[in-house]
Amino acid sequence: MNILVTGGAGFIGSNLVHYLLGEAREEMGMQTDLVVNLDNLTYAGNPSNLDPVKNDPRHVFVHGDILDSGLVGKILREHKIDAVMHLAAESHVDRSIESPEPFLQTNTVGTLRLLEEFRSYITSTGRVSKEGGKSLKEGGSPCFLHVSTDEVYGSLKPSDPPFSETTPYSPNSPYSASKAASDHLARAYHHTYGMPVITTNCSNNYGPYQFPEKLIPLMIRKAVRGEPLPVYGDGQNVRDWLYVRDHCRGLVSALWKGIPGETYVIGGKCEMKNLDVVKAIIAAVRELSPGAVTATDDEMITFVKDRPGHDQRYAISPDKIEKELGWSPAENFASGLRKTVQWYLDQQDWIEAIESGSYRGERLGVNV
Ligand code: NAD
Repeated sequence: MNILVTGGAGFIGSNLVHYLLGEAREEMGMQTDLVVNLDNLTYAGNPSNLDPVKNDPRHVFVHGDILDSGLVGKILREHKIDAVMHLAAESHVDRSIESPEPFLQTNTVGTLRLLEEFRSYITSTGRVSKEGGKSLKEGGSPCFLHVSTDEVYGSLKPSDPPFSETTPYSPNSPYSASKAASDHLARAYHHTYGMPVITTNCSNNYGPYQFPEKLIPLMIRKAVRGEPLPVYGDGQNVRDWLYVRDHCRGLVSALWKGIPGETYVIGGKCEMKNLDVVKAIIAAVRELSPGAVTATDDEMITFVKDRPGHDQRYAISPDKIEKELGWSPAENFASGLRKTVQWYLDQQDWIEAIESGSYRGERLGVNV
């Protein structure tokens, strides 16, 4: 398989690239011959996330934009791409509230351009199988995996059942609205043109290489330094957490074994209140870095003004991907959090390069 990954210098994308070139073959039976990694290195893209694969000849990094249709078309043809795994996005809700426009450009228009280039590529190269309903594993046509979020479904009340593939869309932030629009485009390309498209909607991820503006790495960093830990509102918002490597395994399962036209929601069945997540982080830092935390939880946690329109609860029912594709998470929250805290404790250079901005000084060459 020659795979185009978009956004592969970001958090989930870099973990996915490592997985594709590592355990995916043994765990999924899918052989990755080539990963072309297209990323325009916004503030969230970090070339050093790719250090583990920098000497792997199966990895080609292209510093470019998904909005550049000419570049995307060239990559698809020159590398005879068998599958697109589309992760490139503006992904931080707070930034979308301050400035929605880049979210619509990358998440919605960028997805449209990729879909259109992929349609042109598989049509012009005759790579559309007549048996459109086959998975890649069964020899189906080149496939486009559109990676999305559970935030498109809006907010749940405490007694509501979790989100599933049939939950109506109800996005509440500019970020989730831009992702919802891209999901509808992906669906429409399958319905209208018969293009093999699979969509996944996943819950909140955590793990190595997550940019330290997001909840879990931010709190780890502050706890280690003995700084106040800012929690939005009353800390009662609920999120359903999944270790990033388990998400990557879900993405490869969906791409390899999933049926074109289908949607799979992915989640760890791990609902937690933000306040409990923060307390679990403090406990893990106390255990793994003795002496780093001397204050009590109450002394460390400060409640700050809530995010406007903050969704109360997200939860996922991953029954379909579990039953139909045999996926289930390998980590629970305690084991995943331990690995994550240890990783951030061990990666002081990675964090310092982000804080100083030096991670953006380094640029990888264009190599199409
Ligand atoms: P991220 O912000 O860490 O990484 C995004 C990457 O996309 C960065 O490397 C960035 O440089 C790149 N990028 C942005 N705009 C681009 C453009 N125009 N052209 C090329 N590259 C561009 O995001 P993430 O957390 O890794 O999320 C990846 C995907 O997974 C997103 O589509 C997101 O919506 C989805 N998702 C994330 C989560 C989560 O918890 N993080 C959960 C579910 C779904």
